[in-house]
Amino acid sequence: MTEKLFQIDPYLKQTEAEIVEVSEDTLALDRTIFAPEAGGQASDLGTIDGIDMLHAEEKDGIVYHKMADIPSGFKAGAKVKLELDWETRFDHMQNHCGEHIISGILFTKYGIGNKGFHLGSEFSTLDADMKQMPQEMVDEVERLANKAVFSAVPVTVDMIESKEEAQKLPLRKELKVDEDISIVTIPGIDCVACCCPHPSDTSQVGLIKIIKAENYKGMTRIYFKCGMRAFEDYKLKHDIITVLNKKYSSEEHNLIENIKIQDNKNNEMRRDLYAMKSKFALMEAERLVADSEKVVSFEYDDQSLDDLKFMAKKIMEITDLPVILSSTSCMTVLLTHSGKSKLKCGKLVKEFACGFGGKGGGSDTLAQALFSDVEIMRNFVKISLMSV
Ligand SMILES: [Zn+2]
Repeated sequence: MTEKLFQIDPYLKQTEAEIVEVSEDTLALDRTIFAPEAGGQASDLGTIDGIDMLHAEEKDGIVYHKMADIPSGFKAGAKVKLELDWETRFDHMQNHCGEHIISGILFTKYGIGNKGFHLGSEFSTLDADMKQMPQEMVDEVERLANKAVFSAVPVTVDMIESKEEAQKLPLRKELKVDEDISIVTIPGIDCVACCCPHPSDTSQVGLIKIIKAENYKGMTRIYFKCGMRAFEDYKLKHDIITVLNKKYSSEEHNLIENIKIQDNKNNEMRRDLYAMKSKFALMEAERLVADSEKVVSFEYDDQSLDDLKFMAKKIMEITDLPVILSSTSCMTVLLTHSGKSKLKCGKLVKEFACGFGGKGGGSDTLAQALFSDVEIMRNFVKISLMSV
């Protein structure tokens, strides 16, 4: 069994230990300050004799430390120096304890259990046993969680010898072990069996921010950030709001209203632009159709493929003649008709564009071909005109 010093003193950042077992890339020690991965929480990080300890995991009471390297001096009986990556540990402690607070409030105030927890690298999640959590409830849980932080409620850990003894406590979850049970208590908030390191009071958790709550497999998955993560999140969002305030000449209280006003203006401008474009395209279509006998064809030098399609649509509103439009700007030829022409647009592209430096395809009534050489594109237009 490895003596788990992190359970006795979660603030212990360095110590000495003796190697009891060495394998290809792992070490087992007589004692450790590194909390192994457990219950959805990532492993601690740190160094052993200056070499990176990458991952700790527990099997049958023994903590195995995966190392970046195993030097020849790492032998059973050797003494080594353990250094904890405190920043990572404290981040884990803040977010882990934040989960205790949120889960504890859900249970004590609403009688809702927690079905899962994951401490991720960006945010943490917990799965509340409730199908659809109303936003007002999410807001209230968040408010109460932060109130618990401001109240600096002590977090205590007690080792209880027997299951019978532990079951007398107001536990949030059923016990999975029978003896030597580590019970974490936050008076008035939470009481549950847990082996992870915890801060000594709730104030150290810092800000608790629920990012979102969504339905997940019949439960509500709550995404949250605590401590430094919540602070960084606040900073990021504040920076975004500052940029938006400048852009929309606003302050926080009228920013959303000003965005809506600007959106409406943009929509109006879009509608006006579309109307003008349609009017112009129709005039252009009438001019082209008036000059055409068997086919409507024109080469543009500034039109995109979408422009060509828009123009072709307008032409087809007033004629059944086939339409062959091209643009040197997008190097594309568009062939289309209403169905009353015998022109097989897609076949033409396949036979005379693909294989001659062009690519594309389409149906009998609509096809397009993209070219990289303007002369080849013009030759394809000539062949298409002869095919009509
Ligand atoms: Zn815990």
